[in-house]
Amino acid sequence: MTSTASTATKTATAATERDLITARHLINGEWLGGADTERMNPARPGELAALSPSGTAEDVDAAITAATAAQPAWAALPAPSRGAILMAAGNLLLDRQTSIAEDLVREEGKTIAEAKGEVKRASDVLRFFGSLGWAATGEVLPSGLQDTTITTRREPLGVVGLITPWNFPIAIPAWKSAPALISGNAVVIKPAELTPLSATHLARALQDAGLPAGVFNVVHGKGRVAGDALARDPRIAGMSFTGSTKVGLGLQEILNGRRARVQLEMGGKNGVLVLDDADPRKAAQVVAAGAFGLTGQACTATSRVYVTPGIREDFLAALVEEAAAYTAGDGLEAAKMGAVVSSQQFEQNQAAVRTAVERGAKLLHGAYDGGTDAGFRFPAAILTDLPFDDAAVTEEIFGPVVAVLEVPDYEAGLAAINDSRYGLTAGICTDSLALATDFAARAQAGVIKVNRPTAGLDLNVPFGGVKDSSTNTFREQGKSALDFFTWGKTVYTGVYLP
Ligand code: ADP
Repeated sequence: MTSTASTATKTATAATERDLITARHLINGEWLGGADTERMNPARPGELAALSPSGTAEDVDAAITAATAAQPAWAALPAPSRGAILMAAGNLLLDRQTSIAEDLVREEGKTIAEAKGEVKRASDVLRFFGSLGWAATGEVLPSGLQDTTITTRREPLGVVGLITPWNFPIAIPAWKSAPALISGNAVVIKPAELTPLSATHLARALQDAGLPAGVFNVVHGKGRVAGDALARDPRIAGMSFTGSTKVGLGLQEILNGRRARVQLEMGGKNGVLVLDDADPRKAAQVVAAGAFGLTGQACTATSRVYVTPGIREDFLAALVEEAAAYTAGDGLEAAKMGAVVSSQQFEQNQAAVRTAVERGAKLLHGAYDGGTDAGFRFPAAILTDLPFDDAAVTEEIFGPVVAVLEVPDYEAGLAAINDSRYGLTAGICTDSLALATDFAARAQAGVIKVNRPTAGLDLNVPFGGVKDSSTNTFREQGKSALDFFTWGKTVYTGVYLP
């Protein structure tokens, strides 16, 4: 009797726990889809982190149909009313910050401090764009014509598609969705397969804040199935994507084919130039934060450093000390650096470092032969003595791996920074205002950091890159994010002439 009761209780508890980690599609205000894809915790072998449905082209079709039906009424709502919903959703994310951050750590691997910061960021982003519901969206301009006033308006695109990666699984969905929604668009988002729960928390907050059914829809699943169906649907007027350069460029072809708007944020190989006049310890802290923070899994992460001869030795000694402090481990415990997201990424990190060493590079800190019995723990890696065209210097690794190369002077360092197919962020460590100013003007990157880590962005300013990093047409974040999700109209208003 007792044992039957306890079994029943156990089953009920197990069902509840499973429910709590199950992400569903959100289509027309309804939570749908089976729990058929398992996501394991990258820091704890064998622990289930999330379950999600594998979306089909039919699911995407249903979501776009719902969005198409809901969009006109949403756009007709006064902008301050749309904004109030975004602000309420932002507040809900903050109320739920800890529990969402814990889910985020379990499915993505970053540290709890990083995850809480990311949830706070998503909340701030929703509140920032919510507040823009009260802001001016056009101008009043003089006309050369008699009795005529000219105004400009921004109109929503309609239904927009968003495809997002796993590395900022709630912040990126938030910073794409919020400008889309405040502008009066309806959204269909396909989050990364590895991190279904985080985007689902965003959807839940929006729904709980009173967003009308169909305005924000989520379809989980594989990129080449659900993501591809989203990109190909002619009802999608614009698509904003963050992910790999290869996938981004493929999407661009699809969207360009029907002249729909496309915004791509893709890879990076972000360099920092460390000059003799910098403080070696502070420069090492800047580089370490950019290279090893977030387990190096940021498109803005520092992955190559060019250092002038006078500071090289002291800088490297300080960088090795900094790297040692980034202990890799379980983000829910005391680790300073979280787990690598997947076995595939872990092996990619190991292969990148091993190959560089086999070609003659020195590994000043790190290892590339560790196992995964305790999860995907990859120690911070510092490579030196490599040729400038080594793959570890030119190709994105997306892990806590940094290559440090010597350059004779500032000009050579700047040339090396610019000798890349990517151009997302670039940094310089110097006390020279003249060189910092010159660098800001001549470095080929969308974001320049002077004495600051290449990773880490404010939410109210434009973000994006050049070359193979970004489409380099519309910027994300800040008020400039609104440009992508709207089109401009010029209105002449006159009176009939007598
Ligand atoms: P990463 O290497 O960071 O996972 P991807 O570019 O593979 O980057 O993935 C980023 C997002 O793009 C994910 O949501 C993924 O599901 C989606 N995706 C991947 N392949 C495709 C594709 N062929 N079409 C549309 N979306 C895709």
